[in-house]
Amino acid sequence: MPVLNDILKIRLETQEKAGLKRHLSTHAIEFLSPITRHEGRDYLHFSGNDYLGLRTHPHVMQAAMAAIDIHGAGAGASRLVLGNHKAFGELEIALAAYKGTESALVFGSGYLANIGAITALVEQGDLILADKFVHACMLDGAQLSGATVKRFAHNDMGHLTSLLATHRSAHSNCLILTESVFSMDGDCAPIAEIQAIAQSHDAWLMVDDAHGLGFVKPFSADVISGTLSKALGSYGGYVAGSSVLMQHLISQARSFIFSTGLPASCVTAANAALNIMKSSPELALKAQSLANRIRKTLGQAEGISPIIPLIIGTPEAALEASYTLREAGIWIQAIRPPTVPPGTSRLRITVSASHTEDHIVQLLDALQTIKKTL
Ligand SMILES: *Cc1c(COP(=O)(O)O)cnc(C)c1O
Repeated sequence: MPVLNDILKIRLETQEKAGLKRHLSTHAIEFLSPITRHEGRDYLHFSGNDYLGLRTHPHVMQAAMAAIDIHGAGAGASRLVLGNHKAFGELEIALAAYKGTESALVFGSGYLANIGAITALVEQGDLILADKFVHACMLDGAQLSGATVKRFAHNDMGHLTSLLATHRSAHSNCLILTESVFSMDGDCAPIAEIQAIAQSHDAWLMVDDAHGLGFVKPFSADVISGTLSKALGSYGGYVAGSSVLMQHLISQARSFIFSTGLPASCVTAANAALNIMKSSPELALKAQSLANRIRKTLGQAEGISPIIPLIIGTPEAALEASYTLREAGIWIQAIRPPTVPPGTSRLRITVSASHTEDHIVQLLDALQTIKKTL
């Protein structure tokens, strides 16, 4: 009988041959700058999601440390048992106010928020229509829910409308899934348009705002999900929407019910970061303008997000480009299937408010060298 390890070795070899094996590298991330140290060498990185540089902001770090002093290291139990410390309510009020919703609910992570909300809203006999580019955790939630799942071409309203016309009537409830800012492309969904389409077909709209927070204007949707771990620089996730929705999630979202509450340090740090985000709009503006400078050089249209895809093609070529940049002291992770569709392996360049003009010049110089080899 084949031993587990023998079977896994064969699977790993197959992945490696396709250029799809993933490796963990260890990084020492220096404070207050987009520099990372790997195996003794310092790199300027364009791969983080800490878009506003708040992960290492002194007020955010102090908030986390003060919370540990008061509340200890962990929450000690799920929120429904003993773990619902007061930092949760404070952050939820602030998040709801910022998102313009009645209420918000903090989950253990963005991943848990998405799978928890989707499985609590739809089930077998219902229909989910998901943009082709939505994040893996929305798709995992969709699969787990038992609803029929169909995908519409990325941001293609004609395709969404035709799927609704064909399939809506055979299902009881319908949930449309999209993102405010798409994680691997940095472009935006036409949310107001989708909301109107949803309303006219008696469907609900859920928008994952993981990469939009701080960058997109307020929008309305039946369900908004998000993370505390990108622009807010901490860890955790949330759902925002009506008070009734939050009451329902507290009773029904399994990833909320059956998982330990976040440590108070994560929650308090996220709240401190949210306050800075609100009082310092110049941070997002800086990241946006640096990103647009890169887009211009790459011949791409202006955008509002700090995410810039440089599509390369095969996984091997994307890895090669990533290693070439590394030799020049620039760290940009290659992104390969299944994170992105086959044939679109890429360098996902992300900019943060802690990058300087000089950092951008260094990046653009290094990109010249890979352009020659592409
Ligand atoms: C990162 C991400 C998530 C998951 O959030 P975590 O808090 O890291 O679990 C969810 N959705 C999108 C679009 C993301 O990019």
